[in-house]
Amino acid sequence: MKTEEVDFLIIGSGVAGLRAAIELAPYGGVLVVTKDKPNESSTEYAQGGIAAVMSDEDTVGIHLEDTLKAGDGLCREEAVKVLVEEGSERIKELISWGAEFDREGMKLSLTLEAAHSRRRILHARGDSTGKELERVLLKKVLSLKSVRKYPFAITMDLIIKDSECHGAYVVKDGEVIALLAKATILTTGGAGQLFSRTTNPMVATGDGMSIAFRAGALLEDMEFVQFHPTSLYSPTAPQFLLSESMRGEGAVLRNINGERFMERYHPMAELAPRDIVSRAIISEMVRTDSRHVYLDLRHMDKDFVKKRFPAIYATCLRYDVDITSDLIPVSPAAHYIMGGVKTDLDGKTSIKGLYAAGEVACTGVHGANRLASNSLLEGFVYGARAGSAARNTVISPSKSACYDPASGSIPDSEEIRRSLRKIMWEKVGIIRCANSLDEARRALRVHNHILNEDYCRRHELELKNMLTLARIIIEAADMRKGSVGAHYRSDFKDRGPNWNEHIAIDKGIIFF
Ligand SMILES: Cc1cc2nc3c(=O)[nH]c(=O)nc-3n(C[C@H](O)[C@H](O)[C@H](O)COP(=O)(O)OP(=O)(O)OC[C@H]3O[C@@H](n4cnc5c(N)ncnc54)[C@H](O)[C@@H]3O)c2cc1C
Repeated sequence: MKTEEVDFLIIGSGVAGLRAAIELAPYGGVLVVTKDKPNESSTEYAQGGIAAVMSDEDTVGIHLEDTLKAGDGLCREEAVKVLVEEGSERIKELISWGAEFDREGMKLSLTLEAAHSRRRILHARGDSTGKELERVLLKKVLSLKSVRKYPFAITMDLIIKDSECHGAYVVKDGEVIALLAKATILTTGGAGQLFSRTTNPMVATGDGMSIAFRAGALLEDMEFVQFHPTSLYSPTAPQFLLSESMRGEGAVLRNINGERFMERYHPMAELAPRDIVSRAIISEMVRTDSRHVYLDLRHMDKDFVKKRFPAIYATCLRYDVDITSDLIPVSPAAHYIMGGVKTDLDGKTSIKGLYAAGEVACTGVHGANRLASNSLLEGFVYGARAGSAARNTVISPSKSACYDPASGSIPDSEEIRRSLRKIMWEKVGIIRCANSLDEARRALRVHNHILNEDYCRRHELELKNMLTLARIIIEAADMRKGSVGAHYRSDFKDRGPNWNEHIAIDKGIIFF
């Protein structure tokens, strides 16, 4: 088997991975492995913006309060403190690297999003913030001689010896390669593809969480999945996100009879926390026997809408929806996973030599529900922290590695993937109960044999990871017998006993 030694191995090239790479560059050779082209990530598609305290009307104390409130009692306060205190420093650094955030005159233009009590969301090119961030980060990485990108290489599993992480096995051009490293950082992003309705790109199949789980790492808060209230609903269009900042700027929701309904569900109406808006939409859809509701911007200035949301305007127009004059059909979609590989404030996981940052990680920053626009910030703050901590890792790279994955395919893999995503959406989605979770568990159990095989093609590897993670989310959702944050149980509508405890899972707890 081909073996390569590097100082630092980073798996994933979104905001967290690239920021970690920049931090590590002065301390040795850094290899950034990514399973697609370098910019293909959730980061690239982020629209609304990035939250940080950048104005005199705002303070880190208020940002902290807003984040804790959204997290519904389950945030780790010390992790949130780090996020809000270090956030503005990371943004200033980014601007010094060339990030062009939108401005009003000389001042940064700050917008409002749900559950933020101050305007603190920086945005770029209107609604293409993620593209601008990836552009700047990739340019910065390109200027660093010690960082090498390794695209179209999918990570299969970690190399674990004596309970320490020594790197990872990847497949590139059909060849399995052992990448041996002093420290490995997982920055593989989220898992929205587990659900049939999602805003996430195809790469978001939860690989990092499943890989870490198989290696024996602890995962936490896996029952908390955030569903974005507004993704474009059209049988002919992709599930395109309609950013929260549209509601922040004044867009309202209407049911198919044209009635505004959010005021009936929450005093903050359209700017209530995402889980409340998503559940309100589902209730209205059921009540009016419809598959969607509408987002309405028709009362807003047309030129402002086109200028503020140029990418959304252009995309919707391509599917015959003019957002300045038409009602936009929308429905909720899986958007973000609050849980992940449990880490401390330096990105350290429960496995020595293995770090995690960004959406794959669970620092506890988001608690039971993420405050909008805090995740890009988390990628910057904790990507840098993980990089900084990893440089001091003392793992000596193992000299040998051996892996012999089957090259077989899974018959009906497309069909299994489709049915898994449907099951997760219908049974483990916005509203769950013991019966639905059990139905999901039983339906997926028939594919358990896939979990015990090794594969070396992207499609099969992703399916195996999706099946692993689906089972983990089902078990965590079943264990939490109460409704907190984004986790809503129709059979346990109250918070339930021990609601403020975190559910941690590793392979010793779940036997498939
Ligand atoms: C449509 C959309 C809009 C959003 N808008 C906002 C917003 O406005 N503000 C905000 O704060 N957040 C937003 N989010 C969330 C935010 O974008 C993500 O949480 C964040 O970008 C995650 O960054 P990351 O670096 O952790 O992962 P990602 O950016 O997703 O990067 C993951 C990387 O890992 C790679 N990878 C995955 N598996 C493997 C594997 N097995 N082997 C090798 N490589 C692998 C991927 O190819 C990719 O390069 C949005 C998300 C979406 C989908």
